[in-house]
Amino acid sequence: MTSTPIALFDMHAQQALIREKLRTRIDAVLASGRFINGPEVTELEEKLAAFSGAGFAVGVSSGTDALQIAMMAEGIGRGDAVFLPAFTYTATAEVPLVLGATPVFVDVDPITFNIDLADLEKRIALVQAEGKLKPRAIVGVDLFGLPADWPALHAIAEKHGLFLLDDAAQAFGGDIKGKRLGRWGHAAALSFYPTKTLGCYGDGGALLTDSAERAALYKSLRTHGEGGGRYEVLRTGMNGRLDTLQAAILLCKLELFDQELKDRAKAAAWYAEALAGNSVQVPQLVPGHAWGLYTIRLPDAATRTRVQDSLKSAGIPFGVYYPKPLHHQPAYRGAHAAGLAAAPALPVAETLCHEVMSLPMHPYLTQDDVLRVAAAVKAGL
Ligand SMILES: *Cc1c(COP(=O)(O)O)cnc(C)c1O
Repeated sequence: MTSTPIALFDMHAQQALIREKLRTRIDAVLASGRFINGPEVTELEEKLAAFSGAGFAVGVSSGTDALQIAMMAEGIGRGDAVFLPAFTYTATAEVPLVLGATPVFVDVDPITFNIDLADLEKRIALVQAEGKLKPRAIVGVDLFGLPADWPALHAIAEKHGLFLLDDAAQAFGGDIKGKRLGRWGHAAALSFYPTKTLGCYGDGGALLTDSAERAALYKSLRTHGEGGGRYEVLRTGMNGRLDTLQAAILLCKLELFDQELKDRAKAAAWYAEALAGNSVQVPQLVPGHAWGLYTIRLPDAATRTRVQDSLKSAGIPFGVYYPKPLHHQPAYRGAHAAGLAAAPALPVAETLCHEVMSLPMHPYLTQDDVLRVAAAVKAGL
């Protein structure tokens, strides 16, 4: 019996739904020739702001550049400590290092996989006590699409006077009690990398903020720090703009986005039902989860290997996000050691790397697809 292949991320079903619109939008950009700063960029920024409820959206060249521009705008650099989870994509930690700041890795919660609040408080206190670095910022990551505990993070940031940045690269569309991500920190960084909840056909990103001052700084920084006039340079910036073609593509995709978020949640509910009642830890069906990835946790590394083999033999793709905690990465080990002389261990981040795996997740999964994946998972337990 042959069955249709299941994709880890959908790159085709959605395209088929909007092909005509894509052609029209792309042709309009080709005709205008305004490949940089075309009107589609502004139109997209307005629609992103409206969708998220944030006061301002600023299109940028990637999620990584969004993080970098946000930190440059705060003047974060040498001598500054930036607190971030040890269990996330590399870009979250890379950016403070590029700016000369020091990432301080924080452990994560074993159920939500997001930053552990008690451990965060502990590490802020340790940095203060050691007195070598100045606590400057917290980066909360909405890992796999689940919003971090933003009310609590906000309170911690306020208490210590820290800049609070939401790395919402995996979670655009998510919300807490109806208030969308993008409004919970001082700013939020979005990625439009093709596999993210809203992805373009290349690299792209955006910053969301309620602060007019920050939005103006972001626009300046993404264009080499330019000021009032085109060739007036006020500050050191970068080339961090969003291409007009990518903005045009995102405008087509944004029309499907609301429905796609609902369809992702539906797939998550099918998974939860199909995988209930055994040793698999499935993500909680939290309202406002954007379901960027569907990540399960197995009881141990050996079980994960068996489940992976079972999926491989069933021809079902999967991913491991992430196989190594950031403080064990060769590029970050030195920074980890330099950040805190007496750094407590990061046991949850270390354990999760051996026990998690991500199953196919996109809006175009059928219930039959999900049942096939779940059957292959269970066969490997
Ligand atoms: C994808 C991702 C980024 C980086 O986004 P790019 O657009 O690929 O630069 C940053 N943080 C997290 C958590 C991500 O998943």
